[in-house]
Amino acid sequence: MDQPDFFDAGARVAVLTTQPLDRMLDYRAPEGGCHLGAFVEVPLGPRRVLGVVWGPGEGGIGMSRLRPVTRVLDVAPMRAEMRAFLTRAADYTLTPMPVMLRLATRAPGLGGAVSMKTVYHLGDAVPDRMTEARSRVLALMEEYGGLAFTLGELSQMAGVSTSVIKGLVRQGAVIEEDTPRDLPYPRLDPSLPGLPLTPEQRAAAESLCDGLRAGEFGATLLKGVTGSGKTEVYLEAVAACLTRGRQALVLLPEIALTAEFLTRVEARFGAKPAEWHSGVTMTERRRCWKMVGEGGAQLVVGARSALYLPFRDLGLIVVDEEHDSSYKQEDGALYNARDMAVLRGSLCSAQVVLASATPSLESWANVEAGKYRRLDLTARFGAAELPEMRAIDMRREDLPANRWISPTLRRAVETRIAAGEQALLFLNRRGYAPVTICRACGHQIGCEHCDARMVEHRFLKRLVCHQCGETRPIPETCLSCGAAGRLAPVGPGVERLAEEVAGAFPEARVAVLSSDLFGSARALKAKIAEIAQGGADIIIGTQLVAKGHNFPRLTLVGVIDADLGLQGSDLRAAERTFQLMRQVAGRAGRADKPGVAMLQSFQPEHPVIRAILSGDEEGFWRAEAAERRAAGVPPYGRMAGIVLSSPDMKAAFDLGGQMARNDAPLRRIGAQIYGPAPAPIARIRGRHRVRLLVKADKSAPLQAALRDWTAQFRLPANLRLQIDIDPQSFY
Ligand code: ADP
Ligand code: ZN
Repeated sequence: MDQPDFFDAGARVAVLTTQPLDRMLDYRAPEGGCHLGAFVEVPLGPRRVLGVVWGPGEGGIGMSRLRPVTRVLDVAPMRAEMRAFLTRAADYTLTPMPVMLRLATRAPGLGGAVSMKTVYHLGDAVPDRMTEARSRVLALMEEYGGLAFTLGELSQMAGVSTSVIKGLVRQGAVIEEDTPRDLPYPRLDPSLPGLPLTPEQRAAAESLCDGLRAGEFGATLLKGVTGSGKTEVYLEAVAACLTRGRQALVLLPEIALTAEFLTRVEARFGAKPAEWHSGVTMTERRRCWKMVGEGGAQLVVGARSALYLPFRDLGLIVVDEEHDSSYKQEDGALYNARDMAVLRGSLCSAQVVLASATPSLESWANVEAGKYRRLDLTARFGAAELPEMRAIDMRREDLPANRWISPTLRRAVETRIAAGEQALLFLNRRGYAPVTICRACGHQIGCEHCDARMVEHRFLKRLVCHQCGETRPIPETCLSCGAAGRLAPVGPGVERLAEEVAGAFPEARVAVLSSDLFGSARALKAKIAEIAQGGADIIIGTQLVAKGHNFPRLTLVGVIDADLGLQGSDLRAAERTFQLMRQVAGRAGRADKPGVAMLQSFQPEHPVIRAILSGDEEGFWRAEAAERRAAGVPPYGRMAGIVLSSPDMKAAFDLGGQMARNDAPLRRIGAQIYGPAPAPIARIRGRHRVRLLVKADKSAPLQAALRDWTAQFRLPANLRLQIDIDPQSFY
C-alpha cells in the first residue's frame, strides 16, 4: 500500500474517533506533523475527543475551514497491523469502527501527561556520620537489592522519619530520582527450566515451538483431558516466544482462574506477567496498555478484551478453555474472542493455541477441514485417571417430593466422606428455587421488566431476575390473587440443595460455590483455595466449579440434573451439556485417587448422556457434526441473529415485518430469513425484543448482504437493531 506514514504540519488527515459517527473526520495535521496511526485529540463541536490518524483526508470541507488536530498523545502510534485487525474485525462482526476503537482504547488517561513519581535507591557515597536510623535505612535498601522505594515505603519499612532519608540524600548515600509512573513489568526469564515433560507433552510442546521458531501464523487445537498438562505445554510455547523477543497473550475465561495462573507463571519465569481484566485497577490498566505498546510487558494474562491491546510484537495467543461461552461478548460489540484471536494471529504472524478438554464443534470442524492443527494429550499427568462415569436412572430411584439426591448418590457420598475424601454435587442453577408459584391461583412470579421468572435467593432474602438483575423482597402474599402464605418454591437451586445436604449429612462441612454468593473475586479465590486444602467435605456448585480449579481430594462428582441442558431450544444444547458434564466429571480424581462421576438422569438412553457415559468423544462429535451438516447450521452453515428492541412492541414488529418482506439482498446470496418472532426472552429491561434469523451457506458473502439489507431501513427513534454474527445463544 502506498500510504504516507508521516503527515507534515497542515496536511489533510482523516481521523477515526471514538464518537458514534458513521465516517472519519478530516483535520489538519498539527505543528510538527504526525505519524500515520498517531493517537490524537481533535475538536468536535465544543468538545475534544480521542481519535487515531487513519490516513490522508478525503477532501470535502475546504482547507480553510479545516480545524487542526489539537495535540498528539504521547503514546506509540497504532500499528498498521492493529488498524488492519480493527477493520477486519469490524467487517466481520458488522460493528461500527468507532466502537472498535473504543474497545482498543479501554484505558483511562491515555492522553494525560506522563505522570512522574519520586523514587529512592541506593547511592555510592558513605555518609559522614552513621546513626542507628541511617544504618537501618541503608541495610533495608541493600537487602532489597536494586529496588526503588517511594519515600513513604522507605520510611515505613525502615521505621524512620522522612528527614532521615532526606539527610542521606544530601550525603549522596541515597539517590532521589523522578521516574514515570507507568513502569515496565519485571522481566520474565524464559531460560529458567520448566518441569520435565512426559514424552507426549514434550512432543506437543516441540510442535508448538517449531511454529514459533518459523515466525509464521498457525492455529493449533491443543486437546487434552483436564490435568493432562495443557498449561504446562503452552507455557513452553510462551517461553519459546519470549526467547525470540516477541510478546505473548494468554486468555482465560474466568478471573477466578488468573490467580492460580499468575503463581504458575511466577514459578516458571521468575516474575508475574501483566494482567488485564475487569478486576484490575484503572492505573494498572493504563500501565498495561502503555507497556504492551512499548514492549515493557512480555506476557499478558487477561480476559477477552485483552485481544485489543496495542501489542508491539505479538507472537503467541493462547485461548485457554476455548469452548467456553464467556468468550462470546454478548453486549455492545458482539464478537467471539476465540475467532478474533485467530484473526489477529493471522495478521501479526502469531501462533494461536486453542486449548480445551472439550473443544467447540467449530474448532473440531476447523481441524477436520485442515485449517487448524491438532495436538492431543491423552494421559492425565501422574497417577490421576479419568473418572469412571455412571448414570443413575432416576425413574428407578425412590425419592420423596422436594428431594433431589437419590439414595444411590447419597450412599456414594457417605462412603467418600467416611474415607476422608471430597464429593461435589453439581447443579447449574443459582439461587434457592427457579420458580415461585402461588398454590392458590397458580400464578408464577415473573420480572416486571423482562419475560423471565424471578428466582428466589434465600441467602439474599430476595427474588432476583437472572436476566436483568432486578431484585425485590420475597412477598408475603400472592401478587395476583392476594392469598397469604401460599407462595411455594418449585424445583431446586444450589441454595435449596444445600438445605437438603445439611439435613442428609449433618456432620459434613459444606461449601456452596455459586458466583452470587461471593462479594468479590478475591473472596471466591480464598474459598476455592480453602476447599482445595480440604476445608470442605461436600462442595455444592454451579458451572463455576466446572472451570479448571484443582481439588486434589475430590473423588466423587454427583450431577444432580444431567438432563437440564438437554431441554433448551438452543442449537448448541447437546454440545454444551456434553462439554459441561465432561468438565465437571474431570474434577474428580485429580491427584492419586481414582474418581467416579454419577449422572442423575430421567433419560439415560439419550444419545448425549450415552456419549458422555461411554467416553466416546469422537463418536459424539461425529454424530453432532452430521446433524448440524444436515440442517445447514454452524459450523456448516452461517447464521446471523437480528434483534430489534424498543419500548414499543408494535414499532419493533412493524420494522421486523418490513425487513422480512424487503429481503432482496439476502435472497441474492441464497440466504433464508426467519421471523419476525418474539425473542425467547421477549422483554428485557422494559424493551420488547423481536428476532429475525438469517441462515446462509458457508461460502455465502453474508456480511455484505446484511449490510445492504439493513441499509434499506430507517430506524425509528428508540428502536435498536443489533446484528449478531455466529450467535451463540438465542435469547
Ligand atoms: P491442564 O492445563 O491440562 O488441566 P495442567 O498443566 O494444569 O493441566 O497440569 C495438571 C497438574 O499436573 C498441574 O498441577 C501440573 O503442575 C502437573 N503437571 C503437569 N505436567 C507435569 C509434568 N511434566 N511434571 C510435573 N507436574 C506436571
Ligand atoms: Zn428482569
